[in-house]
Amino acid sequence: MWNETSTAVPPLERADAGAGRLPLPAVVESVEPGSIGEDLGFQPGDRLISINGIRPRDLIDVRFLTGEEELRLEVADPDGTLHVVELEKEADEGLGLAFTEALFDGLRQCNNACPFCFIDQQPPGRRRSLYVKDDDFRLSFLYGSYLTLTNLTAGDWHRIEQQRLSPLYVSVHATDPELRSRLLCNPRAGLLLDQLAWFARRRLQIHAQVVVCPGLNDGEALQRTLTDLAGFGGGDWPAVLSTAVVPVGLTRFRPAGDELRPVSPADAEAVIERVETLQRRFQAEIGSRFAWLADEWYLIAGRSLPPRVSYEDLPQQENGVGSIRAFLADLERHTEGLPEAVHPPRRLSWVVGRLVEESLQPALDRLNAVRGLEVLLHGLPSPYWGRDQVVTGLLTAADLLEGLADRDLGEALLLPRVMLRQGEEVFLDDVPLAELERRLPVPVRLVGGANDLVAACLGRGEHDA
Ligand code: SF4
Repeated sequence: MWNETSTAVPPLERADAGAGRLPLPAVVESVEPGSIGEDLGFQPGDRLISINGIRPRDLIDVRFLTGEEELRLEVADPDGTLHVVELEKEADEGLGLAFTEALFDGLRQCNNACPFCFIDQQPPGRRRSLYVKDDDFRLSFLYGSYLTLTNLTAGDWHRIEQQRLSPLYVSVHATDPELRSRLLCNPRAGLLLDQLAWFARRRLQIHAQVVVCPGLNDGEALQRTLTDLAGFGGGDWPAVLSTAVVPVGLTRFRPAGDELRPVSPADAEAVIERVETLQRRFQAEIGSRFAWLADEWYLIAGRSLPPRVSYEDLPQQENGVGSIRAFLADLERHTEGLPEAVHPPRRLSWVVGRLVEESLQPALDRLNAVRGLEVLLHGLPSPYWGRDQVVTGLLTAADLLEGLADRDLGEALLLPRVMLRQGEEVFLDDVPLAELERRLPVPVRLVGGANDLVAACLGRGEHDA
């Protein structure tokens, strides 16, 4: 039953997909105080081997298996001693355990070769982990990472259906089978429309993204892609919930002869025009704008960002759609009731990507109207990636050291946290934050959202704006 072939979507054999190994035990990282796990005596380093006789493959399995009222857990201490723990609990009560990894049977890796792949556009010689291309439906369900559906086995499709793993986040790029196969360099990529129909029949849902490469999948191809996707976007239970349209990001490390070119202001204008026209149509037909333009399109075109209200409930904010608009709206809110003066006087610098510098000017003016406060904004390019216009999150430590050399940094530098790798104090070029701090002449203060930034400017505590 578990390996039953799903209809409509030809399966890959497990071996072809490089699919998971036998699951390793799940290693406990922490135990929530007051939880069942604490009552049972779980400690960090303990290894959960099985739940009711089944080895969990990942966190999703743990959630499902621990949803039973009666549990029999097989656990190994850090010294290898085995224990069997039996317990009864409410079905909706968790164990309160966090694990060191989300996947216990290995990562499903990508089997495509997209010419615009950001991982292939990294410089050589870095940590091996930076070159790992994940394409794992479990991570998509758990964390919202995008996958292509090209490496799923029959068992994976069955599992998505059985465990209702929805919504998933799918990189579409094009719905024309030939074009999608060409963009992903994978003939299996042409199955996408069948796969969307599979989701629709089972009332499972996805969010989609389209990375637009000028000359390849813009123009009529983009029109067809968004129209096809919107065909799955209506009704009470749309199979496609939203689509993000994002510009391709190219770096100087990409291979020569890859047919790609950077997005020009004229390209951005054309995409905005086309997608905004479609948004109006979709609004009338399915009750939502449905296709969302990343903020970068407006900044590249030199246009102001649409008002916050036009992003509905920001369904694709994680994908850069409305994130700058939301930050500006937050910044406006937090700079509304600024004090007339700060004492003692403060001179600070704030570094951002050159692409967003201009849009921050009104908020900067409001901050600098506070007597005694001077904020120096530095909008930097990225020589590291070979890009003049970049968003803040792409700046590396090398860009900061080069761009800020000889600039007036005031008493301290406000550094947006978005420049650091998620969960690490390391920049995208692998330089630790501590090294940047050592090499800059002023202290660095990391800032998160607008609230944090304004608090830092006014000299308040980190979370006290
Ligand atoms: S699917 Fe993603 S990870 Fe794989 S090659 Fe394409 S862009 Fe890179």
